[in-house]
Amino acid sequence: MRKRYVVGNWKMCTTRKEAEALAWAVAQGVGDEKRVQVVLCPPAPYLGVVRDAIQGSSVLLGAQNCYHETKGAFTGEVSPAMLVDMGCTHVILGHSERRRIADFHESSELINKKVKRALETGLNVIVCAGETKAERDAGREQEVVVEQLRESLQDYPLDRVSQLIIAYEPVWAIGTGVNATPEQAQAMHHLTRTRVAGVCGEAKAQQLSLLYGGSVKPDNAAVLMGQADIDGVLVGGASLSADDFLKIIAAAL
Ligand code: PEP
Repeated sequence: MRKRYVVGNWKMCTTRKEAEALAWAVAQGVGDEKRVQVVLCPPAPYLGVVRDAIQGSSVLLGAQNCYHETKGAFTGEVSPAMLVDMGCTHVILGHSERRRIADFHESSELINKKVKRALETGLNVIVCAGETKAERDAGREQEVVVEQLRESLQDYPLDRVSQLIIAYEPVWAIGTGVNATPEQAQAMHHLTRTRVAGVCGEAKAQQLSLLYGGSVKPDNAAVLMGQADIDGVLVGGASLSADDFLKIIAAAL
């Protein structure tokens, strides 16, 4: 039985007060439910506020990014150890907004360094991959996602597969209201699991949780998570409403 996940990526949204209220409402709704692992990833300055608001519930704290150095003269960056110190158990790495927005332009090589450092620090990593609309239209979605994952997970330590979660997030579905069909998403998840099995064996691949992300809403969450290889969802926009997010969590049960 693979672990079910519902992860909320709040991106660069909420004020401190909104973050506190949202986290508190989610924690109240989730209580100590353990059939699905809920992770909240607020903006970095609000990690402490959210950590305190979810205390006593089964909700875990995640970050949206980190750097790969441990400490030093890296103005503006946050180390994995700092995230652990703030109570984080998870970190999202290689989100398409980090890869594609020109100001960030993160390469898979950089993401790979971040993945390794975060793992060493004890964090669970949620590594994202996904194709653009142009790449899908050109029939290149499998090639693009396999390549992103191969490079981002290069030399991944096989004794740490339990710390890995992979999120398939087609870029054309993120924040657009156009989600991948369950069949499209399942095909990509199945491909991912098959490729992972080729590297670390069928048993480990069968334990790996694979998440879908891209315009997940209360009305499409259940059918997406009903697919054989979709073990949960990474939610952006709909995670900013406690009501919608709790409905998505309920769909995961
Ligand atoms: C995301 O931020 O990873 C995401 C999938 O966003 P949205 O749910 O808004 O498409």
